[in-house]
Amino acid sequence: MFEYAPAPESRSVVRLQPAYGLFVDGEFVDPIDGGSLTSINPASEEVLAEVASGGVDDVDRAVRAARTAYDRVWGPMPGRDRAKYLFRIARLIQERSRELAVLESLDNGKPIKESRDVDLPLVAAHFFYHAGWADKLDHAGFGPDPQPLGVAAQIIPWNFPLLMLAWKIAPALATGNTVVLKPAETTSLTALLFAEICQQADLPAGVVNIVTGAGETGRALVEHHDVDKVAFTGSTEVGKAIARAVAGTDTTLTLELGGKAANIVFDDAPVDQAVEGIVNGIFFNQGHVCCAGSRLLLQESVADQVLASLKRRMAQLRVGDPLDKNTDIGAINSAAQLARIRELSDAGTAEGAQRWSPPCELPDRGFWFAPTIFTGVTQAHRIAREEIFGPVLSVLTFRTPAEAVEKANNTPYGLSAGVWTEKGSRMLWLADRLRAGVVWANTFNKFDPTSPFGGYQESGYGREGGRHGLEAYLNV
Ligand code: NAD
Repeated sequence: MFEYAPAPESRSVVRLQPAYGLFVDGEFVDPIDGGSLTSINPASEEVLAEVASGGVDDVDRAVRAARTAYDRVWGPMPGRDRAKYLFRIARLIQERSRELAVLESLDNGKPIKESRDVDLPLVAAHFFYHAGWADKLDHAGFGPDPQPLGVAAQIIPWNFPLLMLAWKIAPALATGNTVVLKPAETTSLTALLFAEICQQADLPAGVVNIVTGAGETGRALVEHHDVDKVAFTGSTEVGKAIARAVAGTDTTLTLELGGKAANIVFDDAPVDQAVEGIVNGIFFNQGHVCCAGSRLLLQESVADQVLASLKRRMAQLRVGDPLDKNTDIGAINSAAQLARIRELSDAGTAEGAQRWSPPCELPDRGFWFAPTIFTGVTQAHRIAREEIFGPVLSVLTFRTPAEAVEKANNTPYGLSAGVWTEKGSRMLWLADRLRAGVVWANTFNKFDPTSPFGGYQESGYGREGGRHGLEAYLNV
């Protein structure tokens, strides 16, 4: 039975301002055209703050600040000095991690135990890791003295606002680039708190600029003539539009897009461990995860056993207030995303799959969706083909390893996959054949700054993290 957990962890650690400006050239400034967006708490629908919406002139001002900082300060700065700033930022993130975690949960809807114990430690780790590279780029295997690209335009989604910021900003700065970053329109607040941290770290003005706004702001940034690099994380649809926009220019591009990952369970897998991996794979962060294990492939001989165990485990999950430390599943990030999850789930039922959720009472206000599984799913169903980006799992079965590979690869995406088996040889056999940028072995959703992450096919190109991630910001 679900428990709605109302007792919130104190939000008093966060001092919200009624309105936020853009962060350009080291200062918070009003947008030139005065536009704004309203940021709301998806768990309560209360207004958190007004956030500036940058127009074409604001984007231009930010790119010019980044260019000047690149030419005069950051580009010529020795790597060992850039490293000092990155280490300082990493330590400040650790010092202010409670405040950052609470704000992330308020703005995004994710459970505090995830923002506190997963997102924030990884954010700090990304800055520490890349600080370590800043003075060692000669030894990264790209030849002597690899050069930065210049000004990087970075656009991120709303599912891991701070972590996606860290994946973008840390490698760009370590390699000597300056940045203009645009957060997603529903989750700008932690990026603005990060801007405050840049001020606190005495980062030279213009090295990091944050221009908030919606898709139009992003488009103005991508199309700016003085940007050398575009790094985008978001939907495949927008990724393709960006690829078209920069085609024929000398801007380099990396794209981290959507996914429809298979989580494959063989009959020799330890069931309890696999069930934890399935739950983590699809219900972590409400399923708002590009690499979520949204297609569960069960070997027929264990399908009933695994499903029974999965249902028992799902009945223990607590859905509710993101600021309660006992909450497992928080709020859906926006009304629009909730509508999309509902639409695809309704299509699952209409197309003949069987829907199941544990008994559940959801809060009246806010955006909520109970954890849901569909059985009897075929590969033709929309819920087996389209990214739902919510807490909805489509279950299919297979008999042989070859059939598992065939079904797992039957998708235009190629971001991640999971395999659960005791047999090492089978694991390697599958890893060779699965068309996915990441294959997890007896685990799921494990991230580390030392490991390159990224996809192929419609999941994009380029890698973030590890030595490969540096290459995306260097002229090698
Ligand atoms: P989205 O593509 O709608 O928006 C992403 C960002 O792009 C936002 O900041 C948005 O304002 C901006 N944007 C929108 N239109 C634009 C345009 N024409 N030009 C420039 N910028 C524009 O995606 P979303 O709904 O915010 O995020 C969900 C998607 O992101 C999912 O498909 C998910 O799989 C993907 N994602 C991928 C990864 C990865 O690493 N591969 C990680 C997280 C999320």
